[in-house]
This record gives sequence, structure tokens and C-alpha cells, in this order.
Amino acid sequence: MRISEIFYSIQGEGVYTGVPMVFIRLQGCPFRCTWCDSVYTWDPKGGEEMTLDEVLRAAAKWPAKHACITGGEPLAQPRDFRALANALKQKGYWIEVETSGGYELPMDGPIDSWVMDIKCPGSGMERYNKYEEMARLREQDQVKFVVTSRKDFDFALDVLEQHKTKAVALFSPAWDQVDPAQLAEWVKAEAPQSRLSLQVHKVIWAPNRRGV
Ligand code: SF4
Repeated sequence: MRISEIFYSIQGEGVYTGVPMVFIRLQGCPFRCTWCDSVYTWDPKGGEEMTLDEVLRAAAKWPAKHACITGGEPLAQPRDFRALANALKQKGYWIEVETSGGYELPMDGPIDSWVMDIKCPGSGMERYNKYEEMARLREQDQVKFVVTSRKDFDFALDVLEQHKTKAVALFSPAWDQVDPAQLAEWVKAEAPQSRLSLQVHKVIWAPNRRGV
């Protein structure tokens, strides 16, 4: 499979913020979000080719038993993704997956928490959203909206109204584009069943630092 990077950090966003996790970042993404902070994953020929055993050995260097499969878009390598998820589960990992919102989700797999990133207009990619997948998410899953503006926030509220989901809804301010305090006020007033999600790893380390 094509791997961008494998590293050990704390989960910086979402319901499991603060949990030490091994991050396995798959290479390749067909989308081009305006605010993407991992453009180095876009080229499907970038990164390096690794076998499943090599990936598992790399992950096992660290003590964590929580793993986050991310990208890029991990579902762009569907067979390798399934093999990786199954192998991690066999090794006893709790598994979170971060995906773009543009793919059908393999809900029959061993994933403990999906994070589906529904794209708002500010991303330029909202036409690829697979809204119907929101109804398949479970209570332990998450649906995330990265917000660049009030327009994006209104869009997200409409999506949540029209596409019912059991997943936890997260609102995340696009870095340097929306004041987190402003977004917090909108969430408090208009989306009280949802959560504000900050990218804590960027606060702890640096906005553009890789491997954290
Ligand atoms: S889907 Fe993710 S990796 Fe792909 S362009 Fe958007 S933010 Fe970047």
C-alpha cells in the first residue's frame, strides 16, 4: 500500500482529542480542499510503498493500542485499507478512520469510530459529498464540518437538518479563517447538540508541523 507517513502523537481533534494514537497516513487524495493541510498526500505516486507487515511493524514500535487511519483519503486504496483495518484489529487496536465524505463507507469492517468530513462550500469540494452515508453512521461515529465562514456554518446546519445521523456532529474552525470564539458562540446558540472541535495538535506544536 502507498503510505505517506506513520507517526505517534495525540489525537488533536474530535471526540477522542488527547488520546495517544499511532497515525497511519495513506498516500493519495482525489480531492483538493482549499484549506487542506496535507497537500503532500495528494499525489498517489508520492510517499512510499510498504507491505502490510512493514506497516504493522512500524506501528508496533509505540506503546499505543489506539490507531488512526487517515490521509489523504484512506478509502482511495480500498483493498489495502480493508486489509490494514482487519490486521490492526487482529492485533488488538481500537481503530479510528478519518475520511473525506466523498466515499461509500465499508460499515461491515472493524472500525470503532468513523470521522466523516462533510465538505462545506469553503472547501470547494462540497459537490462530492455522499450525504446518504450520514444515515449509516453509528453513535460512536463522528461527522465533521470544517468551517471557513458563516456561510459554511449555515450550510452545515442545513445538512444536519436534512440528513439525520446518529453520529456526533463536530464543528471545526478552518485554521486562521474563523475565530474559534465566534464559532463557539454559533455552536452554543444554534447547534447545542453538537461539539466544537479544535486542532489541538496545532496549538501544542505548530500549524504546519508534520508528524504530530
Ligand atoms: S479530502 Fe482531506 S486530504 Fe483530500 S484535499 Fe481534502 S483535506 Fe486534503
